[in-house]
Amino acid sequence: MSHTKSSLPCSVSGCQRPLHAGGLCKLHYYRLRNTGTTDDRKPPSASERFWSKVNKDGLLHPTLGTACWLWTASTCLSGYGTFGFRRRLIKAHRYSWELHHGTIPDGLFVLHRCDVSRCVNPDHLFLGTLADNAADRDCKGRQARGESCGTSRLTVEQVIAIRLRHRKGSSTDGSTALAREYKVHHSTIRNIISRFRWKHVE
Ligand SMILES: [Zn+2]
Ligand SMILES: [Zn+2]
Repeated sequence: MSHTKSSLPCSVSGCQRPLHAGGLCKLHYYRLRNTGTTDDRKPPSASERFWSKVNKDGLLHPTLGTACWLWTASTCLSGYGTFGFRRRLIKAHRYSWELHHGTIPDGLFVLHRCDVSRCVNPDHLFLGTLADNAADRDCKGRQARGESCGTSRLTVEQVIAIRLRHRKGSSTDGSTALAREYKVHHSTIRNIISRFRWKHVE
């Protein structure tokens, strides 16, 4: 019985796939090239991915006495960290709060004691109402705005969702697509993105 060269299996132990190059099958050859190892490494979990983007070695907060844990990856326009989770972009501080405490109850917001938008230290976060949030972020606003204004057709949650999802020119998350989905004029979406309207929403 004679083996031709091409009938030898891959040199990774236990792998019976045919050779492709370098003594390896196609799968192991490209995995080695792309990852530096033939081992099947599990992709990191969502929380591992999350904490890999956080710097916990910052300065102590002057009044809280513990360090702000700063989000080092992307942020949204208002300065909050954004984290890709289950194919959506969510706010990093909200994810941190949920990791430590569970689901955020409907209608409540995760607020910062430290006033550092990028901070995801759960000890610096607390739950509050939108009123707390607005009072926190915009003390001078006394006029009826946004959700409480008679002409408004979008809720605060919708405005936040629109800001998180909007991608310029996207066929599913561009201004035109979002306008269609939320049944508003596309100029309304553009105003939300540019913060011409709903300035008080985070
Ligand atoms: Zn192989
Ligand atoms: Zn902080």
